Amino acid sequence: MTNASNARAASLAHLRSARLSVGDPIPLPLTMAAIFHAPGDATGFNQYGRFSNPNWQAVEEMLGHLEDAPCVAFPSGMGAISAVFFALLKSGDRILLPSDGYHTTRILADRFLGAFGVTCDVRPTSSFLDGGFDGYRLVFVESPSNPTLDICDIAAVAGGVHKSGGILVVDNTTMTPFGQRPLDLGADIVVAADTKAPNGHSDVLFGHVASRNAEVITAVADWRQTAGGIPGPFEAWLVHRGLETLELRFDRMCSSAEIIAPRLKAHPAIHSIRFPGLEGDPSHNLARAQMERFGFLISFVVASEDKAEDFINGCELMHAATSFGGVHTVAERRTRRGDAVPPGFVRLSVGCEPVEELWQSIKASLDRIIA
Ligand SMILES: *Cc1c(COP(=O)(O)O)cnc(C)c1O
Repeated sequence: MTNASNARAASLAHLRSARLSVGDPIPLPLTMAAIFHAPGDATGFNQYGRFSNPNWQAVEEMLGHLEDAPCVAFPSGMGAISAVFFALLKSGDRILLPSDGYHTTRILADRFLGAFGVTCDVRPTSSFLDGGFDGYRLVFVESPSNPTLDICDIAAVAGGVHKSGGILVVDNTTMTPFGQRPLDLGADIVVAADTKAPNGHSDVLFGHVASRNAEVITAVADWRQTAGGIPGPFEAWLVHRGLETLELRFDRMCSSAEIIAPRLKAHPAIHSIRFPGLEGDPSHNLARAQMERFGFLISFVVASEDKAEDFINGCELMHAATSFGGVHTVAERRTRRGDAVPPGFVRLSVGCEPVEELWQSIKASLDRIIA
């Protein structure tokens, strides 16, 4: 990580210090309230739970510190993505999405935006610059894409989109602000599922929108307050707590992935592998240039669907589960989610277990599927 990221990580747990009075709790109190004491002219303080809550404000302050940009919190990653679409788009707009990104974003555009007169095109992440961006009001990028881990040049895409008069949204879920900084690379908006590594304990769904454009922040905050897709105070409190250890967990997970990926590549049960940190991976050179870490996701292909299931279920230190970024190592055979990948395709999310123990358990399960 860069010095700037280390400085952000160091001050993260001390953001509230300046406002503490003698005797106040150091950890963030949980404020479960739908209504607040609000006499007289009702401005400038908490009034009603759909408008504001101290736990949202605290988690947004933390996320804003990490993103170096104002943030608006949402009850899920899709809640954040929906807010960007519904607050910023209008009938007649065209948008461009990755064909290989998180599939629910495409479903949202196809099923719901289409009905409001917004048309949507898709394009593979690995050749995202091809064809240019003329005519697109909003361009949406996911890099590395989930689950194939292709990447695109975010700064070059931002340049092209801005030249064509559009706005660039980057889904930074797979990297977090410690792994990649799309706003610094020229993106207008970051969206992310804090359900994944930022919360990190797989017990909450959460999301946020970050932008240095005040109009964008006002629009998505107004959308949240009006449409009512608001985070719960307890969920915000849990994510606030999770964020306090994000740097520690993310560092462990990325470091472990860098150790495990080359060993997987060398294992005879693995037919092909994708990890941006592997020399020779199609994403590697660009990843070195635009990412601060290579992430904790590894995708690989074994001989068949059955072998993939046997590997996942036979590994003692691995849960068979969707999602990623939690303290537990999890893996999923992705054809069961309908991704356009080979039958034996596995997405592995490296967790926080000590790396040698984790590798021994992965290796033992791989050895068994070729025995
Ligand atoms: C999980 C995920 C989302 C959606 O987040 P939810 O919290 O499940 O709504 C969006 N984008 C990416 C890349 C994701 O992995």
